[in-house]
Amino acid sequence: MSSPGPPLKVLSVVGAGRSGTTVLASILGEVDGFASAGELRWLWERGVKAERPCGCGNIPARCPVWSPVITQAIAPFAATALPGRVESIISSQHELARRRNLIRVLQSIDHPEHEAWPALQTVRTVTGSACRALADVTAARVVVDTSKRPLDAAILAGVKGLDHYVLHIVRDPRAVVHSWRRAKSFTTEGTTRTMGTRSLPSTVRRWISNGVSAEALRRRIPASRWLHIRYEDFAAEPRAVVESILAFLGENAGIPFTDDHTVMLHPNHIVAGNPSRFTTGHVTIRADEEWRRSMTQGDQRLVGLLTMPLMLKYGYPVRHAARG
Ligand SMILES: [Zn+2]
Repeated sequence: MSSPGPPLKVLSVVGAGRSGTTVLASILGEVDGFASAGELRWLWERGVKAERPCGCGNIPARCPVWSPVITQAIAPFAATALPGRVESIISSQHELARRRNLIRVLQSIDHPEHEAWPALQTVRTVTGSACRALADVTAARVVVDTSKRPLDAAILAGVKGLDHYVLHIVRDPRAVVHSWRRAKSFTTEGTTRTMGTRSLPSTVRRWISNGVSAEALRRRIPASRWLHIRYEDFAAEPRAVVESILAFLGENAGIPFTDDHTVMLHPNHIVAGNPSRFTTGHVTIRADEEWRRSMTQGDQRLVGLLTMPLMLKYGYPVRHAARG
């Protein structure tokens, strides 16, 4: 169990899918004293119930890290049988995820003890317990959760006794749309895993929704606990950006880069995220700019038009993007 000492640091990574969050989780998980959970919000539905594999290849119930974490995290609900406990957590998560409920979760950050909403209490308790258990099992000072939704960061921000930070990562929406259209596959140790695809309207809607919700969350997080980065800056100078993230967290452990762009990744226990979490060995981080060549001018203009207010806010040029 946790010993008295500085409070556990938890970093919530917020951003749209295909913004580099999984590779960032893998890199941060290599830092001494850090544990990368991956997309912690999926531990119950995809991990425990659907038995999707952890980064180590085991299902979470048989993973040496997640198995004890699951036991510890659901201990507060010991009166109910295991499947019932897991179902209760998943249905509470679905209840919170209804669009109209985000504001209420955000409003609960400052005074979580005044919020008598059973679903929120359940998810907040179990998520906080899972972070503490993961830190205990891995002897970590810092837990990284790349659940990506501002909602999940708001849930963690209201957990008492954690030292909570938010890293907001944004990527050019044209690149995000292009990435979601490609059926990208990863092959590791003989197993090929393919990432899902999404249409332009679906990706744009989710990108805008994530950005608007992130701005609402930012107003409720102390400025010293909020770091905004762009995927493009991370891909251009990954080592420097990871160093800036460690400085933001008040940490100065060594980082696993072998040069400014290359990082050594070992098998991990990232519980959910895109299939790149299974990638190990020397990995070179570089910007994926294929969209500039492959995406039609018409689609680029359409995405630019639909996302213009946020693109301008984050410093992306809406015009002349296809020159690269
Ligand atoms: Zn594992």
